[in-house]
This record gives sequence, structure tokens and C-alpha cells, in this order.
Amino acid sequence: MLSIKNLHVKLEEEDKAILKGVDLEIEAGKVHAIMGPNGSGKSTLSYVLSGKDGYEVTSGEALLEGEDILDMEPEERAAAGLFLAFQYPVEIPGVGNMTFLRTAVNAQRKARGEEEISAAEFLKLIRARAKELKIDAEMLKRPVNVGFSGGEKKRNEILQMAMLEPKMCILDETDSGLDVDAMKLVAEGVNALRNEGRGFLVITHYQRLLDHIKPDVVHIMADGKIVKSGGPELALEVETNGYGDILAEVA
Ligand code: ADP
Ligand code: MG
Ligand code: MG
Repeated sequence: MLSIKNLHVKLEEEDKAILKGVDLEIEAGKVHAIMGPNGSGKSTLSYVLSGKDGYEVTSGEALLEGEDILDMEPEERAAAGLFLAFQYPVEIPGVGNMTFLRTAVNAQRKARGEEEISAAEFLKLIRARAKELKIDAEMLKRPVNVGFSGGEKKRNEILQMAMLEPKMCILDETDSGLDVDAMKLVAEGVNALRNEGRGFLVITHYQRLLDHIKPDVVHIMADGKIVKSGGPELALEVETNGYGDILAEVA
């Protein structure tokens, strides 16, 4: 589903390499997690995959179902099936959540050469999805993320993901100070949307999130590279011993 090969990234403004050869293969139906010390480049990886400005890919590639996404505009990436959830969801005063989601769904359909979703069809779909995710109908009418609690923002992010039906979901939950309830919401959302055709990359500092998500593969990132990969037990090892032993072992 997602194939990252020897990805090197530097800051656009200065000559500072941040990603120094990331290799990652995520198969459809699998959940991969990336953990790692602060500053190791985890968020940079998600930003580069999303097409955020300020970063320069100096070599390597990132293929989504065989198509290089690094040359695409952010909206083309979304149309291709990539979804990115960020640590700090944006607030959009004056734009109702429902309107926002319908615009996003239609932009994606348009980019795929599909017909727009009708108002009635959209309403039916969003109500069904909201119900599945235990989201209050009232939240759909409020302006996007304005005055939402941390938990509501998380719910909304999962709803966005459910509505866009992505092939590959990337969640960067690092440093977001998720409390246990919000963490469970994210995990439940991911678990509800898990299916054979969809891949997930979950970036986190906290082993606890992985207690609820149960990743298939765990990677440790350090100094711009993935230095170790393993099963869920790797996250437990980090929880117990920190990164010290792993980093010493690979040094
Ligand atoms: P992580 O998410 O693993 O904590 P980041 O990807 O946020 O790591 O950061 C990796 C490194 O790149 C850090 O040393 C950080 O300071 C640096 N960095 C990332 N983005 C920028 C930026 N826009 N300007 C300056 N330094 C940056
Ligand atoms: Mg950080
Ligand atoms: Mg980060």
C-alpha cells in the first residue's frame, strides 16, 4: 500500500538533514506504529508525506499503490487515498462541520473524476458514520473544531477519516498530550476503520495507545532512520526500558 524507499529530507531554509534514509513497507490491512525519541523525525515523515511546505526531498521515494506521491499536490494525495490526521487539528470559524466534510468528500470525488455526492445521499452517509462512531449529531452542525474539547477534536478527526474512506491513514499522535479517554477514542476509531484494503501508520510516543490499537508491526525511529522493527513486543520493551538499550544495540 505504502512503500517508502531510502527517503532523505532536509529543511528547505537551512542545510539540515532530518530524514536520513527511511525505508518502510506497509501492506494493505496492516497497522504499523512508529515510536522514537523526541526529535527523531517522526512528525517530519508525516509532514513530508502530506506535502507540507518547508521540507525538501533530496532523494528516495514514497509510493502509494505504486504511484509516487511526493510529486503530487496535497489534494491529489488525498484523492489518491492518503489521509493524514495531525496533532493539532485546525479550527475553521464560520464553516459548519457538515459543510466542510461535504466539500472535502466532493473535492476528493472530483479529483477522482467521480460525480458529486447529493445532499440527501451525503446526509444519509454522515448520519450512519456518526452513529457508528458514537458522534453526537449536534457536533456535525458546529463550526469545524471551534470550541471542541480535545476528545471532540479526536472524534471529528476519526469522522473525517471515515467519510473520506482512505486507503492509507497516517496518524501523528506524538506530543499531543492525549488523555486516556482521548487515546481510547483514537484507538476505537482506528479499530473501527481497520479493514483488509486499508493500511495504517500510527506515530506515537506512548506505548499505552498501542495497548488499544494492537499494531502488526512496530518501528523505532532514531536520528532520521528506522533503526529497529518488530512486533508489538517492541513497544512493551520501550515502555519498560526506554529507548536506551535499543539505541545502544543498534549503534
Ligand atoms: P519528532 O516528531 O520525532 O519529535 P520532528 O520531526 O518533529 O521529530 O523533528 C525532527 C528534527 O527536525 C528535530 O531536531 C527538529 O528540531 C527538526 N525540525 C523539524 N522541522 C523543523 C523546522 N521547520 N525548523 C527547524 N527544525 C526543524
Ligand atoms: Mg516531537
Ligand atoms: Mg512529533
